[in-house]
Amino acid sequence: MDVLSVRQRLEAICDELDRSIKVLNGTGEHKQWAGEYPQDPADAGANLSENERSEAVLAAARRQRSDVLAALHRIDLGTYGTCAECGGPVPEGRLEAKPEAARCVACQAKLDRRRR
Ligand SMILES: [Zn+2]
Repeated sequence: MDVLSVRQRLEAICDELDRSIKVLNGTGEHKQWAGEYPQDPADAGANLSENERSEAVLAAARRQRSDVLAALHRIDLGTYGTCAECGGPVPEGRLEAKPEAARCVACQAKLDRRRR
């Protein structure tokens, strides 16, 4: 595995997430501002789902950003590509699809089941 190109990819993803988070945070400010004005209930409902959606996107972006930073840290430690749960290798195909992946497919599936 070419760790250098993985690092560049992770850094590019992190930059992109930083930009998205900034934009989404901007929407959050707009939400507070809009809240000071009485609104048509239909409009308020539409805004709410819009805000909820952008908050969900923001939460996902923040989570992915911390995964990406953790992956960069693992490159520094030399443990990148090793599953954080079982210590086994994370398949390269999985890392290509999701370079910030910290776990092998089996351990991630287990974790996802526990979260739900
Ligand atoms: Zn594992």
